[in-house]
Amino acid sequence: MTEQTEKKTDIKSMNIEELQGVMKSLGEPAFKVKQLFDWMHEKRVRSYDEMTNLSKALRDKLKAEYPYVSLEAVEVQTSRLDGTKKFLFRLGDGNVIESVWMQYHHGNSVCISSQVGCRMGCRFCASTIGGLLRPLSASEMLEQIYEIRRITGERVSNIVVMGTGEPLDNYENLVRFLRIISDEKGMHISQRNITVSTCGIVPKIYELAREKFQITLALSLHAPNDEKRRALMPIAHKYSMEEVLNACSHYFDETGRRISFEYALVGGENDSEEDARELCERIRKLNCHVNLIPVNPIKERNYVKSDKKVIVNFKNKLEKYGINVTIRREMGSDIDGACGQLRKSYLSDHEADTD
Ligand code: SAH
Repeated sequence: MTEQTEKKTDIKSMNIEELQGVMKSLGEPAFKVKQLFDWMHEKRVRSYDEMTNLSKALRDKLKAEYPYVSLEAVEVQTSRLDGTKKFLFRLGDGNVIESVWMQYHHGNSVCISSQVGCRMGCRFCASTIGGLLRPLSASEMLEQIYEIRRITGERVSNIVVMGTGEPLDNYENLVRFLRIISDEKGMHISQRNITVSTCGIVPKIYELAREKFQITLALSLHAPNDEKRRALMPIAHKYSMEEVLNACSHYFDETGRRISFEYALVGGENDSEEDARELCERIRKLNCHVNLIPVNPIKERNYVKSDKKVIVNFKNKLEKYGINVTIRREMGSDIDGACGQLRKSYLSDHEADTD
């Protein structure tokens, strides 16, 4: 049986070589590729009709064969505390995803989703409760940033892939996205200003290291040992902490980029002095930074935030071992806290409508 490969039509996810193939198949000259790429990723127009230096005939041919992915903002919430904005976007198939825009002194940051839902099952995370519906295309990842840039009118200097979904469970689309967003002919976001967060899919960390990107890898560790990690994160049954930490160390060796460990402090679960000490022993030899995040309680689980004093003690302990550590500032805590919560509350409101 001959293998049938489906024709790719998502034009905004295509790299230059693929766009060259499209223009060739339409009998168009090669220089049109540059113009098309420019309209999509530098000028970031919302439709083919705005591409005024492409002939009407070409625009019509593109329209007929290559759907132009755009997102529709269905809800925008602005925090009165710090100006953080949460966006709920509707995708072409009716699914919704969320993205966040944050202002820091060093520039504006956008946090994007990489999947609709998630199948990783981390116990404290709202994004995973309905499971994985589907991965996002590269264009849908790009569009979250393009739309936020358009709606806010503000420059975007940093990107974090820390919204709903496990980016390394959507590897090919993620890599496509990273290439296009950092392309100097597109939005040209410096790879050094991009962070990809993973729960730790070990073989994919090795694969990512081979790409030799200059992005930061954030690793969701959340525990000082395998036993505690398994209680919070099902992925820890598949890969031991030793395997994950070896992969991180390899990532640093290959890219020279310091690893950023995420550690959500959950009251009474992973926040004791002994936990801090054990964590230090495990990671002190790695070139890393630790981000302590007071867990954001979700109503489906009864995890609680650690006390302020406990958080500060935990931080001090790490610092005593010479580890770089910050306590993550909580942004937009008045507008549907943790990742996945805005989408979840939107979905449950709308499910209630149809009852
Ligand atoms: N799947 C990826 C990226 C998405 S989650 C990952 O696991 O890293 C982004 C970060 O938020 C992860 O560190 C995740 O563990 C954390 N997170 C999820 N729910 C949280 C919550 N309720 N409180 C604090 N951090 C949470």
